[in-house]
Order: sequence, then structure tokens, then C-alpha cells
Amino acid sequence: MSINPKIANFGEPETLPDESYDAIIIGGGIAGMQAALDLGDMGKRVIIVEKEPSIGGNMFKLSKTFPTMDCASCISTPKMAAATHHPNIKILTYSEVKGVEKEEDGSFKASIFEKPRYVESSACTACRQCEDACPVIVPSEYDLGLVGRKAIFVPFETGVPKIAVIDMENCVYCGACERVCPANSINFLQTPKWHTLRAKSVIVATGFQLFDAKRKTDYHFSEYPNVITSMQMERLLAPTRPTHAIVRPSDGKEPANIAYVLCVGSRDASLGNPYCSQVCCMYSIKQAQLLMGALPIADITIYYIDIRAYGKGFEEFYVQAKAMGVRFVKGKVAKIEQLENGNLVLHYEDIENGGKLTKTEHDLAVLSVGLLPNVCPPDLFKGQQLKVDSVGWVTSPDPNGAPMKTNIDGVFAAGTATGPKDIPDSVVEGSAACMNSIAYINTTTRKIPIKVARSGRRQTA
Ligand SMILES: Cc1cc2nc3c(=O)[nH]c(=O)nc-3n(C[C@H](O)[C@H](O)[C@H](O)COP(=O)(O)OP(=O)(O)OC[C@H]3O[C@@H](n4cnc5c(N)ncnc54)[C@H](O)[C@@H]3O)c2cc1C
Ligand code: SF4
Ligand code: SF4
Repeated sequence: MSINPKIANFGEPETLPDESYDAIIIGGGIAGMQAALDLGDMGKRVIIVEKEPSIGGNMFKLSKTFPTMDCASCISTPKMAAATHHPNIKILTYSEVKGVEKEEDGSFKASIFEKPRYVESSACTACRQCEDACPVIVPSEYDLGLVGRKAIFVPFETGVPKIAVIDMENCVYCGACERVCPANSINFLQTPKWHTLRAKSVIVATGFQLFDAKRKTDYHFSEYPNVITSMQMERLLAPTRPTHAIVRPSDGKEPANIAYVLCVGSRDASLGNPYCSQVCCMYSIKQAQLLMGALPIADITIYYIDIRAYGKGFEEFYVQAKAMGVRFVKGKVAKIEQLENGNLVLHYEDIENGGKLTKTEHDLAVLSVGLLPNVCPPDLFKGQQLKVDSVGWVTSPDPNGAPMKTNIDGVFAAGTATGPKDIPDSVVEGSAACMNSIAYINTTTRKIPIKVARSGRRQTA
């Protein structure tokens, strides 16, 4: 959910006093939250810095998770709440890390820029009366443009923190929100804030962004309304979905013959991404199974190069989809054409039938887009550049022995910041980065002095 705030130039940024922590976690997705919760439970004081108005990352947008079919928000929402209420965790949302400097003693000093929400967080009750009054409608980032949102909006129902934010890029300064807000929360005079954070370690958990499907021009995403992305389909299938039925965008009809196109923006050197995105085969199979439940008479075809069902229970999940009637066709889709009725014709090479060039009509096409890294500014760490690979994933100098380490001592990386992966692996990496961070803190900071208590028993200070 990247909103592009135009910051109203009403005042100078406010500079806040320095704060100290054991770890700064950059990114509040599932990997960052896991690292924070583990550190917090071990008595370490941590701060999560998240650039969006709410923590949660990409997971809260998902429907269910493969291969267990657990509800994604039923897993991520309690973690978001636990992080918020944890006595050792502070969360700074809508904030960006602008620079990190390593000090002589091995600790770090970070400059954080907190963007103004133009809504007082201590007053807003998320009643959403401002949303009803606001006349401006723009595509919703949360629902990936499937529906609209207002210029003032509460990011999503389970957002943490659940506070409205004004998107100044689209605000027309009509004042309607200010007039209706029962809590007097609107404050157009709010200014940005600079925070200086001192910490003994840093964890980079900046996650992934979706491949921009528009770059695959032969598939005409954003030109043909019935070509959608897999994340849009996640939203249509999620319990928090924007519409109560699964409908195709052009005419609101229930689709009856859906195509999945795999490896869109993955394993494609011509688009600068030679990597397999690891999750697309499995999330497409998951969505196909969910669609079979939601639209029992629909035909679903998955066009693939290879099915990479590499994890525990994945092959069985794939076999189950076939048994449910999902059709798997080995063949790379070359192009998509649109017919007058909005239906789509997919042209592909049918590998299992002698490589014959074939075309098939569908009424909805879902592009299984790949994962790309979130761009970490190359000059973020002063004096020492964080090493990333040719695509931008954070690398480790010892990928087999210490995969969470980075080239900067005391800076660790976790989750999809280091490469495409699923939720369980992101959670494991969050916990691993926590342990690495504790080991670093223990070796760089002075030993805790041992005091002898009156009883004669030893206790730590
Ligand atoms: C369509 C789709 C379906 C999927 N389905 C499944 C599934 O069923 N099962 C499964 O296991 N996996 C699934 N996945 C993969 C899953 O989404 C990821 O494994 C998981 O979300 C990774 O979590 P993360 O914390 O590493 O990254 P993210 O969720 O991307 O979180 C990173 C966070 O960091 C923030 N951030 C980024 N840069 C900065 C910065 N500079 N400063 C501050 N904050 C920053 C971001 O705003 C974000 O909140 C799916 C993925 C897709 C695309
Ligand atoms: S800004 Fe005011 S009207 Fe809008 S959600 Fe918050 S309390 Fe309600
Ligand atoms: S002032 Fe801006 S945010 Fe408020 S109602 Fe008007 S357009 Fe919407």
C-alpha cells in the first residue's frame, strides 16, 4: 500500500530527542514482526520502523495460505496486535529510515523521517465519518485498484495502528473531513518529525514488491480489464474482500473459465529477473482450489513452465488440485488477445502435444506475478554499502553458515528482503535474525555486572 504523500509545506519539521533501543527493525511485515516479538520476549527493547500507515506487510492482503489453507489474516492480525501491545516493542509507522551510521563502539545511529498523517493519532477513533464526507475517490492500494478509497482513509479494517491518514497528493482541501470529525482529529498544520534512534543492532526486513505486470506488454494488463494479477485475485478471495462475489472487472459477471499464467516477471532474464519467485506455483494452485469452492461450475486452467512444488505437503497439494479438476497445461503463454465481449484468447505452445501452437478462449486471466525486492537506497548505511545481488536482494557473505548476516557487522536481514520465499520461511528468518542480533549485542556491549544480593545469592543488575 504505497501512498505518495505530498507534504503540505505548513511548517518546519519537528526534531525529537534521541531514543535508544537494542534493535531497529526496518519493515513491519511478518518477518519484521517475528524478529521484534522474539527480541521483545527476550527482554530486548526494539523499534519497528514501517513506511506504510500500518504494519502487516503483504500478508494481511492474502486469502488463505498454502498448503494448509489457514486464514492469512487470522495469523497476521494477532501478531500485529501482540507487537503493538508488547511492553518492549515500539512501532513507528508512516516513517522512513533516511540514514544509518555505525558508531565506533559497534552500535548504530539512525535518522528517521515520520510523515504527517494530518490526523491526530491520540484523538482519531477510526469511526470513518471523514471517509463518508470526503468527495475524492482514488484507487485503493489495499484492494489493488479493484475498488476506490477516499483522500482521507483508514488504511484497512484490521490496520495497526487503526488511524485515518490524509493522502495530500489527492486532497482538494475542501475541509469536509474537518467539519464532520466528531473527535476534532484533523490537523492540517501537522508537521513531519525527525527522530534519531540509537540501537545496538539493525534488522532489515523490507520485504518484496510485486513485479509490475504492465512491463509484460504482450499480456496487456491495465489495458484489458479482464486481465488481473494474482494479488488482485487474493483480495477477491479474502474474507476481507471488496466485493461479496468473485466477478470479472469488465462487466461484473461471474467468470466461468479462468486461466492462470505462471512465471509473469519471474525466470525471465529479458525482464532482468532470472529468479524463480518460489511462491507463485503454490499460491496459484491455492487460488485455483479456493475458486473451485467459490465457483463450483467454473473451469480453471493453469499454464505453467514447470510446477515447482518443492516444500513439505506441496506435491500433495498439487495432486489434490488435479484431483479436484484443475487443468494443468505445460506451455508458456506468448500473448493475450481481447475479444469484443471482453473474453481473452491465450496463445501458447502446448509442450505435451508436440509443441503445437495453440489458442484457447477464457473469460478471465490471472497473471501470477513474481516477487522483486523493495529498493533499499544504496546510501542508506553511511560509509559502507549494504551488499545486494544483481536483482537487489540482500546478500550474506556466508550464505550457508550465517544466511541472515549481511556484509555490515551488526546488520542482519530476514524474510523476503533476502530473496523470494513463503511465510513459514520468512518467520523462521525473522527468528534467526533475532538470535543473530542478540549474539552481536552480547559480543559488542560490555558484560552486565553481577551484583551480590544481601541473601548472598548472585543476581544480575
Ligand atoms: C499473490 C501472493 C500470494 C501469496 N500467498 C502465500 C501463501 O498462501 N502462503 C505463503 O506462505 N506465502 C504466500 N505468499 C508470500 C508471502 O506474501 C511472503 O512470504 C510474506 O509476505 C513475506 O513477508 P516479509 O515480512 O518478508 O515481507 P513483506 O510482507 O513485504 O513486508 C515488508 C514490510 O517492510 C516495509 N518496508 C519496505 N521497505 C521499507 C523501508 N525502506 N522502510 C520501512 N519499511 C519498509 C513494507 O512496507 C512492508 O510492510 C504470497 C505472495 C503473493 C504475492
Ligand atoms: S479522523 Fe475523525 S472522522 Fe475520521 S476516522 Fe478519525 S475520528 Fe473518525
Ligand atoms: S479536505 Fe481533503 S481529505 Fe478532507 S474531505 Fe476534503 S478532499 Fe477529503
